[in-house]
Amino acid sequence: MLTIGHCTLEAQVADITTLDVDAIVNAANMSLLGGGGVDGAIHRAAGRELLRECETLGGCATGDAKITRGYRLPARHVIHAVGPVWHGGARGEAGLLASCYRRSLELAQQAHLRSIAFPAISCGVYHYPPDDAVHIAFATVIDTLPHASGIERVVFACFDDAMFDRYERELAARRDQAPPSKPA
Ligand code: ADP
Repeated sequence: MLTIGHCTLEAQVADITTLDVDAIVNAANMSLLGGGGVDGAIHRAAGRELLRECETLGGCATGDAKITRGYRLPARHVIHAVGPVWHGGARGEAGLLASCYRRSLELAQQAHLRSIAFPAISCGVYHYPPDDAVHIAFATVIDTLPHASGIERVVFACFDDAMFDRYERELAARRDQAPPSKPA
């Protein structure tokens, strides 16, 4: 756990569909009409109503995000972000991945949400190298938080221990950078 201003950041090994937060982020594809991986799990858990709302959205560009209700999920909203497919790194993948995290936090802020959980966007079938993806996720969230002052809690939901360890390393590195807190 790490505190930045009014916000806590934490990594958890968790199925993101079980998290009781204001919004979970979906690693969606451009159609927004469901898919495999975390996308399939979110649509299964949320129910058909989520697909019906997604059908009204007209898809989403890579690097952008759109918000819906959460329906049968414990989460009140789903923010559908479209990560880049990894093609080797020369096709703007890093900027597009960062944009997913930035846009998700912007949408959460606009909707007055306070807690948000992210999966490791693009780290599944889109094959983004996970160490790089986690670094981008973490750095972008920290850089964006000053512009999303309503966000009080960010959870990085990890499907396995290897992913959890990556976030823990980022959290530890950041804690080491922080100035020691002064005694009261
Ligand atoms: P992408 O197409 O963006 O690569 P995937 O859904 O294939 O998206 O994978 C993104 C990440 O989400 C992977 O690290 C995968 O292990 C993880 N993941 C899959 N299902 C879940 C889930 N239910 N909760 C949290 N993370 C999940």
